[in-house]
Amino acid sequence: MKLFRIALLVCILVAITSCINSKNNAEPANSIITFNEDASKFSASEKQLIQGVILESEREIRTLLPTLPDSINISFEIVDWDLDVVGGVTGRTETNSPPTVFIQISEKYPGGITAAIQKALKHTIFHEFHHLYRGWAIQDNKFEPGIPIAAINEGLAVVFSEEYTSAMEADSPPEDEVAEAWTQELLALPQNADYQTWMFQHPDGRQSIGYRTGNYLVRKAMAESGKNILELSELSPDNIFQLAGY
Ligand SMILES: [Zn+2]
Repeated sequence: MKLFRIALLVCILVAITSCINSKNNAEPANSIITFNEDASKFSASEKQLIQGVILESEREIRTLLPTLPDSINISFEIVDWDLDVVGGVTGRTETNSPPTVFIQISEKYPGGITAAIQKALKHTIFHEFHHLYRGWAIQDNKFEPGIPIAAINEGLAVVFSEEYTSAMEADSPPEDEVAEAWTQELLALPQNADYQTWMFQHPDGRQSIGYRTGNYLVRKAMAESGKNILELSELSPDNIFQLAGY
C-alpha cells in the first residue's frame, strides 16, 4: 500500500513537471540576471528594482520584436565611471550566442544607483536588446566592419529606445547641415577606421559622431520612406542608406 502511494506521488510529480515544461516551451524564457559584485555590492532593494525593470522592459520589447532570442543573460555591475550624460547606465551586447548583455551602473550618478536605474535602465535595455535582435554584438557580430555600418546599427538602437522609452542628450543628432557633413565624412572613411575615434571620442573634441549621425540617418530614412522604426529594423545598413538618399 505504501509502495502504491509513492508510485501515485511520483506520477503526480511527473505530470506537474511536464505541465511546467510545456508552459516554458510555449513562451520565450525570461532573461537570466546575474550580479557581478567583485567591486561593489548591490543592495536587496536595488536588485529588486532591477528585476522589476527587466521583467517589464522584456515583456514590452518581445511584443515589438517577436524574434528576439530567448534566455538572454544580463550581467550587472556597479562602476565609478562618470555616466551622467547617459543617465548613469551604460551597456554592451557581448555575444549573440549565447545572448549576453553587460550592464554597468554608476555609483557616481547624482542620487546613486537607484536614481540611475529609474532614469536609464529601461532605455539601455531597449537599446541592447535591439542589438541582439539585429545580431550586432562585439564578439560574434553578424555584420561587416566599417563605421557607416556601425552608425546605422547604433542609430537604429538609439531611435528604437527613443521611440519607446526616453531620449538621451548624448545621442541627439546635430543640426542637419552638420549631420550631412558628418555623414560624408563617415562614408569617406576606410573600412578599418578607428572605432573609438569615430563612435566615441574624436581628437578634435567631437563626441559620439557615429551614434549621433546614425540617429540622424535613421530618422531621415524614416521620413523619406514613411517606414517606422520596426520596419526599418528589418533592413540592411545599405538599404537604410539608400532610403535616406545616399
Ligand atoms: Zn549600442
